[in-house]
Amino acid sequence: MTTAEAEILDELESELRAEGVRITRQRMAILAALAGSTDHPTAEELLARSRERDPSVSLATVYRTLSVLVESGTVLRNDFEGAGARFELANKPHHDHLIDLDTGDVIEFTSRRIEKLQEEIAEELGYDIVFHRLELYGRAKKKV
Ligand SMILES: [Zn+2]
Repeated sequence: MTTAEAEILDELESELRAEGVRITRQRMAILAALAGSTDHPTAEELLARSRERDPSVSLATVYRTLSVLVESGTVLRNDFEGAGARFELANKPHHDHLIDLDTGDVIEFTSRRIEKLQEEIAEELGYDIVFHRLELYGRAKKKV
């Protein structure tokens, strides 16, 4: 585990404690799996990664732990169409997602032009943006 992952793990653990959740060995395995994930795993994928650390982790514990962390804002839940609920740490820099309809791959991107355009639109409508989600669904162009 890298230093960065250990720091994330500490943060996740104190977040759960703050929410009054008892830290069990199984929960630590789930947190470690989350801290070590840079992609957008499903609950089932997190279960598999958690079980590499502790085979006694159950899907129910994964769901419960994720729901506490989503509730506290530490973990983001993305409901991508056709790809199910995908989880990622909320402390990553802001980005949007492109979902590959054929493979289910989730690709992260950021565009200063899009961010700026959204600000302008909200401004014109008299709003401050609190948050936004932008999802693009596509198919890879065939290579000629
Ligand atoms: Zn993402």
